[in-house]
Amino acid sequence: MTKFINSPFVKEVSKITFRLFAHGWDERNGGNVSYRIMPEELADYEDVKKIKRNIPIAFDGKNLAGMYFLVTATGRYFKNIIDFPERDLGLVRIAEDGKSVDLMWGYNDGAKPTSEFPTHLMGHQERLKHDPKQRVVMHCHPTNLIAMTFTQKLDEKELTRIFWKMQTESLVVFPEGVGIIPWMVPGTIDIGKATASKLANYRSVIWPHHGIFGTGETIDEAFGLIETIEKAAQIWTIIQMQGGKIEQTITDQGLKDLADSFGVTPHEGYLN
Ligand code: 13P
Ligand code: ZN
Repeated sequence: MTKFINSPFVKEVSKITFRLFAHGWDERNGGNVSYRIMPEELADYEDVKKIKRNIPIAFDGKNLAGMYFLVTATGRYFKNIIDFPERDLGLVRIAEDGKSVDLMWGYNDGAKPTSEFPTHLMGHQERLKHDPKQRVVMHCHPTNLIAMTFTQKLDEKELTRIFWKMQTESLVVFPEGVGIIPWMVPGTIDIGKATASKLANYRSVIWPHHGIFGTGETIDEAFGLIETIEKAAQIWTIIQMQGGKIEQTITDQGLKDLADSFGVTPHEGYLN
């Protein structure tokens, strides 16, 4: 038997949150991560068996009852989690009635799940319909991407095409494109519903003037998706700083050939 703090799950979330902070994408308490843990993966940990506290949540998670999530606490700083995982992370189990969570580990100074937990849960629920291996929802505030939501039309096709053409890897990593919702108040059920409805067709959703949600089967996959989108936004930003691009770019035919070569299907109707 071993302590959960020494688990690969806590280590991975601690490391990735620090890396997100180091990128400058999670200032102050910005950002949140939730990681679905299988009950059988918890069998060997001695300190996750008893309910420490019951915490109400502002969402009916009945469909997710019994599921375990390792989730960042509201108001806590990503730069600190690596030093204080048992304070700034919690392992919660969705209670039977769906209206609360049982705290099994962590949040040891009275902390609670992220204010975006309803959006995370709705996101997991939606992505699980498309991918039974879905495990991670990650939210952060990437700088260049947020800037582009002020200078570009908030149009999924247009923004996706820009990102695809900024670097050859983009189309391979997100052939479905990027989803965008209108600006909305964060931490609400409404923004959760809007985000989840986009997650039916995309694995990433841009929150204009705020940040991004990325999903995936692993921490690496969710992080890699966000990293690739933000890299495209950074290249776009640098191109503008260099005076704008001249008439040379990846053509639509080039992107089609790329998709064929890598066996991915670009979002229908996005390529001419
Ligand atoms: P929390 O501190 O509640 O996780 O909120 C941070 C955030 O980025 C809200 O969108
Ligand atoms: Zn945020």
